Amino acid sequence: MPLPRDLPIVDHHCHLSPNGEGVAAARRFRDAGGTHLFLATQNYRPGAPTTLADYVAQFDTTESLAEQIRRETEVVVYPVLAPYPVDLIGAAKTLGLEAAAVLQESALDLAGHRIEEGRAVALGEVGRPHFPVEGDIQEMADRVFRRALEVARDVGCPAVVHCADLDGEGYRELAAFTSRSGFPLGRLIKHYARSSVPAEERAGIVPSYLAKSELVATVASEPSPWFLETDFLDDPRRPGAVLDLATVPRRATRLVELDPAAADRLRIPFESAVATVYGFTPIVDRQRSP
Ligand SMILES: [Zn+2]
Repeated sequence: MPLPRDLPIVDHHCHLSPNGEGVAAARRFRDAGGTHLFLATQNYRPGAPTTLADYVAQFDTTESLAEQIRRETEVVVYPVLAPYPVDLIGAAKTLGLEAAAVLQESALDLAGHRIEEGRAVALGEVGRPHFPVEGDIQEMADRVFRRALEVARDVGCPAVVHCADLDGEGYRELAAFTSRSGFPLGRLIKHYARSSVPAEERAGIVPSYLAKSELVATVASEPSPWFLETDFLDDPRRPGAVLDLATVPRRATRLVELDPAAADRLRIPFESAVATVYGFTPIVDRQRSP
């Protein structure tokens, strides 16, 4: 049972690097049936960025990689840009904490401008270190996070959140934090969600689930919106650290093989959630072989 021809197959969060597999990984994704990638930027060099020029170069790299993938594979790529929250810690070692925070705030403005120009679709990853940090770093990370929510609010784009795994209480705390900045919770995405928290306990925050087979089976019956992602890292030094980029199309194919009606459920993460949260709909304009 092949996938329906008009069903887009979307990985909602991955990273690709010119120093890793890059376009070859996107080709693998396409060959497995994938059609659309949300490509989150990352620091492509050793050490945290310490100047705004570093972030200009980083975002340029993400955008040109997206362009190259579109050209060479016909996969649709949506760039997602922001300074990585954890890089605040690395930059603080060189610059001091205050200057490191100011740098992240400037990089958020830069990302916001590019989203306004239509060069990217969301601000991400923004948020907090996913591990315990000292109080002054936590406070500064929250200051930067607040700025991120303000930038996304003013630009009118979704915000993709990096933080520790959340339970119901964690979602509620994040929702309260977000609401104080006047950012709409329906456009706040918890990326790398590793457990299913019932929709009524998520305070309106949208989960992007890691596409592990058990988790996909668990969340498949959840109401829209939710996404599937691999968080593929494309780091040759860390093979197998995250799911492979071909995972989402493989899972989708398997689900539809087991039950053709599953294709309708998959329209949630691949179509309706994108439409609800981002305001556009991924379209498949290429023919799959019959
Ligand atoms: Zn990521």
